[in-house]
Amino acid sequence: MDEFTQEELRALDSEGRALLTQHKIRTCESQERTLTLINVYCPHADPGKPERLAFKMRFYRLLQIRAEALLAAGSHVIILGDLNVAHRPIDHWDALNLECFEEDPGRKWMDNLLSVPGCQAGSHVGPFIDSFRCFQPKQEGAFTCWSAVSGARHLNYGSRLDYVLGDRALVIDSFQDSFLLPEVMGSDHCPVGAVLSVSSVPAKQYPPLCTRFLPEFAGTQLKILHFLVHLKQDAVFGHSALQFGNQTQVQMHQNKAPRVRSTRLRSSQAGSSRGQKNLTSYFQPSSSRLQISADLERPSMPLMGALGTTLTPEEEVTAKVVEAQAKASNTKDEKVVQTLFWKSVLGGPSPMPLCGGHREPCVMRTVKKPGPNLGRHFYMCARPQGPPADPSSRCNFFLWRRPS
Ligand code: ZN
Repeated sequence: MDEFTQEELRALDSEGRALLTQHKIRTCESQERTLTLINVYCPHADPGKPERLAFKMRFYRLLQIRAEALLAAGSHVIILGDLNVAHRPIDHWDALNLECFEEDPGRKWMDNLLSVPGCQAGSHVGPFIDSFRCFQPKQEGAFTCWSAVSGARHLNYGSRLDYVLGDRALVIDSFQDSFLLPEVMGSDHCPVGAVLSVSSVPAKQYPPLCTRFLPEFAGTQLKILHFLVHLKQDAVFGHSALQFGNQTQVQMHQNKAPRVRSTRLRSSQAGSSRGQKNLTSYFQPSSSRLQISADLERPSMPLMGALGTTLTPEEEVTAKVVEAQAKASNTKDEKVVQTLFWKSVLGGPSPMPLCGGHREPCVMRTVKKPGPNLGRHFYMCARPQGPPADPSSRCNFFLWRRPS
């Protein structure tokens, strides 16, 4: 660590990018070993900020020193997470068009850290193995990150930034699989995973940083059983029944999972001063749910309040007019009235212009770049970004929106 000042170490650790956990594992030869998981989110180097590239490279350096020290101390080590670099050309959709792809300092760092799977004679032998490429050495289009702005995920226009790197011995002896889950949505990245043939040895006591030792939880919420109370046998149905307080029941059916009946939030209690003493506070018997359903079948104006809508004075007038019209016509089809009302409040979007390349409705975007056009709206092709030669990808259509 001599190459780092204390100040630099603090700066590198100050962004909360790494979480280390240690686990006792039993290998297939019944040996007990320590496994250290380094969950990490490596810095991204914005091209316009050279100081962040320096930060990123120092972060990589420190990560490697730490991982190698753990290996030297006898632990197995897995580094997993977003390393923010696509290692080889096969890991990036556009590597051919990127200048000096191989010269990127992040890629060089990975070259140095990793062994080439298969280990051809003369190839570099690093302490870690990219487990995905160990199992899928030649799979193309295997990406974990796509630009969310351009919709690039539709055409798999991405890169592989997320890895499960294991130390050489662990990957060779204990990894059974390593995979990407691109079908899992919810982020601009997708999950990655690996399967190991080791079992975990449970700890004899809770780790000292466990939540139950935090002062704010002292003596409360230690076990979920504390929320349950035993009751007498249910004689009629022959079920043993657990009851939460006085209204909601969880019935333990034979051969069936427990079923919670009635789950509606009781609004009068949700924000009350009673706090979270009792799980029952959040439940209401099913009879009142029936009541609510009945209300929903006869929609009326106050429903808007239930939706949390705040009306402007103008809208309130509109609402009253519609309500009056409904009363005057004495129509039974209040759904029509409801539809009319919402249409009068929400005008809906004006039709989109069609793009030049596909004659399809455009999407509207707003200029975010500082300058004379900041905040102006424009229309562009709605299709996802893809290779320029692919006619199914976004065309070059561009049109300023005229100010309304
Ligand atoms: Zn188009």
